[in-house]
Amino acid sequence: MKPNFNNTQIAFKHLSNGELRRALFLFTFITKPVFVSIGKTLLQIAKILRIPYGWIVKNNIFKHFCAGTSVDKCDKTIIKLGDHGCYSILDYSAEGLEGEENFDKVRDEILKTIEIAKNQPYISFGVFKFTGLCSFSLLEKVSSGAPLSESEQQYWLAAKKRAESIYEKAAIHGLSIFVDAEDSWIQPAIDEMVFEMMPRFNKEKPIVYTTIQMYRIEGISMLQRLIQYAQDQQCKAGVKLVRGAYMENERERAFEMKYPTPIHFTKQDTDNAYNEAVATCISNIDTIHVCVATHNEESCMNTLELMEKHHLEPCDKRVAFAQLYGMSDHITFNLANSGYFVSKYLPYGPVQKVMPYLVRRAEENSSVSAQSNREIQNFKRELTRRIQLR
Ligand SMILES: Cc1cc2nc3c(=O)[nH]c(=O)nc-3n(C[C@H](O)[C@H](O)[C@H](O)COP(=O)(O)OP(=O)(O)OC[C@H]3O[C@@H](n4cnc5c(N)ncnc54)[C@H](O)[C@@H]3O)c2cc1C
Repeated sequence: MKPNFNNTQIAFKHLSNGELRRALFLFTFITKPVFVSIGKTLLQIAKILRIPYGWIVKNNIFKHFCAGTSVDKCDKTIIKLGDHGCYSILDYSAEGLEGEENFDKVRDEILKTIEIAKNQPYISFGVFKFTGLCSFSLLEKVSSGAPLSESEQQYWLAAKKRAESIYEKAAIHGLSIFVDAEDSWIQPAIDEMVFEMMPRFNKEKPIVYTTIQMYRIEGISMLQRLIQYAQDQQCKAGVKLVRGAYMENERERAFEMKYPTPIHFTKQDTDNAYNEAVATCISNIDTIHVCVATHNEESCMNTLELMEKHHLEPCDKRVAFAQLYGMSDHITFNLANSGYFVSKYLPYGPVQKVMPYLVRRAEENSSVSAQSNREIQNFKRELTRRIQLR
């Protein structure tokens, strides 16, 4: 049975009327760029004046987009989603930490999420950002190909060791791990780490999943290189396909530093590349497993058609879908209801530390207003439907 993304009853079955009203209020607020920038300024003032703002954030935007302040507090959400056919991906969302001690702490946190997954069948994948395990400047230097000093070589080895320990534990428990894609000027270092780990951990199934951003002009050739590498190494590949979250930064940097933009010129070009990438993965499904990580309905429908054409069952776990917690429930839960393998990224972490993530969510939703307006319409339709039932 094909999902119907207009079915709000299925989409919001897991939300109470109060939760739906909060979501409606929140999205109405964040679709207005002026409110988002006022909110950002107020937060900065509160920070400077040391006004405790945590509880306001925690009871509003945090509650909608995050599952808890620590991994132990995510249980209820994981079970609630799982009971509605949706898997969870625990995403430790503390960003911008630097220093070897902090990198070790992040590694330990990711190891903890794997430990939890061991006894929690509703967890489908693990995830980490390599900038959580290694300094941004070192990733940039490795990516540039410049020679590393002796101490930098030590730090680089230590960063790869942290990733390795995550994959070792994940392999023991058979849990596949995504590494998120970040800025293009640190991506070669992330790719180097992934390519080093793949032959070791991906013999039977992909434990090591990389992420490719299809707004990159090079996206399709990166995917082909990944498939070729897996075939040469006689191992599996795993890829999470996204459009890409850092478009403005990428364009600005390219402009300032006078190099050609690495990003497609139009949205249509990105969309075409995304569809081509999904088709390439499904045609090579014995080599590469894919996670279609998007809030785009057409991309999801296109994937379902390709799966049907290639005689893949909806429950075939080689094709996964994922959305972010708090967004596009109409896609997630209608896919789940039709038997597809779908997960939510479940961000968690102390309120202060996940603030950069929350600000990005607010900004993304205010800039992609068509998507947010669709969310608002869906919340309204469901609330009206429930009132009419009374
Ligand atoms: C589960 C999950 C995991 C994610 N992981 C990552 C990750 O690891 N790294 C990462 O960078 N992002 C990640 N993202 C975010 C993702 O890259 C997108 O920013 C976001 O999902 C919006 O894209 P979309 O496919 O959902 O839908 P759409 O709303 O259809 O597409 C919006 C996207 O299209 C692209 N775009 C918009 N305008 C143009 C233009 N003029 N020219 C070219 N391209 C354009 C941009 O990438 C923009 O974000 C993730 C998203 C999800 C759901």
